[in-house]
Amino acid sequence: MNRENRKQRPGVAGFTLVLSMMLFCWPLTYCSADSNRAEAAGGDEDVSDKIVKPEDEWKDQLTAEQYRVLREKGTERPFTGTYNKFTEDGTYLCAACGEELFASDTKYDSGSGWPAFWDTANDSGVASHDDSSLGMVRTEVTCSSCGGHLGHVFEDGPEPTGLRYCVNSASLDFQPAGEAAADVSAELETVVLGAGCFWCTEAAFEWVDGVTDVDVGYMGGEKKDADYKRVCSGQTGHAEVARITYDPMKVSFQRVLELFFAIHDPTTLNRQGADVGPQYRSAIFYTTEEQKVAAEKAVEALNAKLADPVVTEIVPAVEYHLAETYHQDYFRNNPEAGYCQAVVAPKVKKAKKL
Ligand SMILES: [Zn+2]
Repeated sequence: MNRENRKQRPGVAGFTLVLSMMLFCWPLTYCSADSNRAEAAGGDEDVSDKIVKPEDEWKDQLTAEQYRVLREKGTERPFTGTYNKFTEDGTYLCAACGEELFASDTKYDSGSGWPAFWDTANDSGVASHDDSSLGMVRTEVTCSSCGGHLGHVFEDGPEPTGLRYCVNSASLDFQPAGEAAADVSAELETVVLGAGCFWCTEAAFEWVDGVTDVDVGYMGGEKKDADYKRVCSGQTGHAEVARITYDPMKVSFQRVLELFFAIHDPTTLNRQGADVGPQYRSAIFYTTEEQKVAAEKAVEALNAKLADPVVTEIVPAVEYHLAETYHQDYFRNNPEAGYCQAVVAPKVKKAKKL
């Protein structure tokens, strides 16, 4: 796992400033419908390094057998797994998240019908837990990064450790020796979101773990060019948007959508509170087919809960016009500005509570 590009949380000084502003702005709620929506969206902030995903995402990502073993603690039939008799040099990775688990030079044939290792690849990749299912006490081993079930460890292995890690092939991927590490966390994705004033949208997403970059701009207009003055006039047809780049291994698109719908009112056409005009429309400019499908599902789910229909546009991303420099990081650079105190700060606070 490459954790090098994990987004840094704001420094203590900056955080204290933001926090004090939030306290100051506590009574100011910009959109009354939002609190209900925030509750509906639910979810706790993930504060650990663990990869946490909704089960339906794991289902989409894994084969049926991998899901049964990794997520439902299943066991593959002995002598059937890909890596049972496998002897190539390399590293065994978690099939769910790419975490390094075992090295081929600790693999041996235990005769049990499952791949066996007498040690783990490092101290951090594999976690163990007591397992008293099946009427006996065993020690289950899981991937310490995503929690995926691997198998069990027994004390009847060869020297030097005397351990036998008995692992399902379905839980493993193999990376041949000499090949560059499969950096599953380097595949970043982008989505462009319109949720009213782009200062708010940017500020609400900047702190999110797994979001690697946010900037603001204009998208979706009929005119070829866009600048703040002309977009604000409502004549170009562009929406104020935030372009969000994220690592889907660290933050799911569902979570991005959850925040998006919580920080604005998706039921008011071309309007967010006092901000009125097509530039403030609710819009998801998707960059992948998966994002489109997920966005449509999220809207369907919201429509079932909300009194008013969701008017969010779900359209493919088109030409992006980066906004003027003074609009970038506006909340961070202008926390004392009245609009930030009244409108942006409560949204950041709300987003952080999700
Ligand atoms: Zn894993």
